[in-house]
Amino acid sequence: MKYCQNCGKEIPENASFCPECGAAVKAPASPEVNNVPQNRKVCPETHLALAIITTILCCLPIGAVGIIKASRVSTEFQAGNYEAALKYSADAKKWSIIAIIVGVVGILAYFALIVGAAVISEL
Ligand SMILES: [Zn+2]
Repeated sequence: MKYCQNCGKEIPENASFCPECGAAVKAPASPEVNNVPQNRKVCPETHLALAIITTILCCLPIGAVGIIKASRVSTEFQAGNYEAALKYSADAKKWSIIAIIVGVVGILAYFALIVGAAVISEL
């Protein structure tokens, strides 16, 4: 049997409102939920692999920024700075994407230059 947390009267087990006072009946908190620490959070994604790949394949200086940001994610997370870790995670992803874009544009420009030079030398 449950008891109303508002008025203390006995209420049916499956009731969601107290018949006496009409207060909403809260489900008893399960022990498992209470055992989980409130501040327990999952480490944000570091995007380190992405940053390394882009650094090797695309653009070294910009990709390196991504690696630095990515390496800070776990550092900040272990220090308990969850917000900072989230920020570095987002930054690592952002810089990796910038590196990919710059790398792709750079490669296209490089090929355009080669093709352009080839076309000019044919003239
Ligand atoms: Zn009640």
